Amino acid sequence: MKYIDGFRNAAAAAALRGSIAELAEEMTAANSRVGIMEVCGSHTMAIARYGIRDILPENIELISGPGCPVCVTEAGYIDAAIELAGSGAIIASFGDMLRVRGSELSLSDCRARGGTVEICYSPAAALELAAAHPDREVVFLAIGFETTIAPVTSLVELARQRKLGNLSLLTAFKLVPPALAALLADPELGIDAFLCPAHVSAIIGARAYLPFTGERGVPCVIAGFEPLDILLGVQAILVQILGDEAKLDNQYNRVVKPEGNVRAQALMEKYLEPADAVWGGLGRLPASGLALREEFAGFDAEKKLGVTIHSGRGGEDPRCLCGDVIKGKRKPPDCPLFATVCSPEHAIGPCMVSSEGSCAAYYKYLRFTE
Ligand code: SF4
Repeated sequence: MKYIDGFRNAAAAAALRGSIAELAEEMTAANSRVGIMEVCGSHTMAIARYGIRDILPENIELISGPGCPVCVTEAGYIDAAIELAGSGAIIASFGDMLRVRGSELSLSDCRARGGTVEICYSPAAALELAAAHPDREVVFLAIGFETTIAPVTSLVELARQRKLGNLSLLTAFKLVPPALAALLADPELGIDAFLCPAHVSAIIGARAYLPFTGERGVPCVIAGFEPLDILLGVQAILVQILGDEAKLDNQYNRVVKPEGNVRAQALMEKYLEPADAVWGGLGRLPASGLALREEFAGFDAEKKLGVTIHSGRGGEDPRCLCGDVIKGKRKPPDCPLFATVCSPEHAIGPCMVSSEGSCAAYYKYLRFTE
């Protein structure tokens, strides 16, 4: 396939692998191990799919981070959605969310017990549900990192245009840069550099990572999802570390602009304001989320329908290590349930539920090798 083949070229990959090996050899004893966190679940999937960990030198460690919004969903959020379904609302959601466990049930269980839970393949489907059921409240499960926030927020704009008064959002929007700051603050994780997410960066812009570079000392390289993208990203990070630099390097400039997507940013700014957010595994992080502005409270399910998202409720099996997997502290095979009790067909924690979760990536591509 034109374009894609260029980023999967075996000879170029071999050359990059050789270059990375030489750079890794040059590392002095003092900084011989380099921990590179890939924050994005699509990177985690691509790294596993193309066997990239296996071809890197031993002293270069790729650490998988929070992954995706489903992976960091708290049990209390699911409980709130189930409560709304119990009060007669139609819950509209992306499919993955149905299998995330609340403190007792999942939305899939809720549906089996008679709750109305509809799977949406795009946020726009929730609008059609609201139009088709004017006598019922339709609550869209508005989870997402920056990539998803703008299209989901556009629901409010479109509902206003269509004068649909029976649509609201149960928001759990999360912002990636504050999570990076929290992860960096944990010395146990050993993060030396970030392989920055591609989709999120297309929205927030490359400049969003500048606070981590310079004096903060963390090389940030934005990379795409093809194997050569990722190898180029690793190579660029090693060059910076050897040169004692910590710069922002946008290797995915075919998509990501320095300023990002200003139209999406304007839409988010219009409807949303910074809010604290509770991340599975990371806990409550100040100003790491976005919530609907007070003037749009009529679209905010928590305010409109009087439901509360309680944080800190456990949902998973106590043996589930999702909290540590999300932080990159443990790898999925460290979990006693991995590929035994827990599989994509019978997922125990959100990292296995999500198609971009670390546990799902290891299960799909690495369970016979790790
Ligand atoms: Fe949790 Fe399953 Fe991953 Fe273990 S393998 S950490 S139980 S999601």
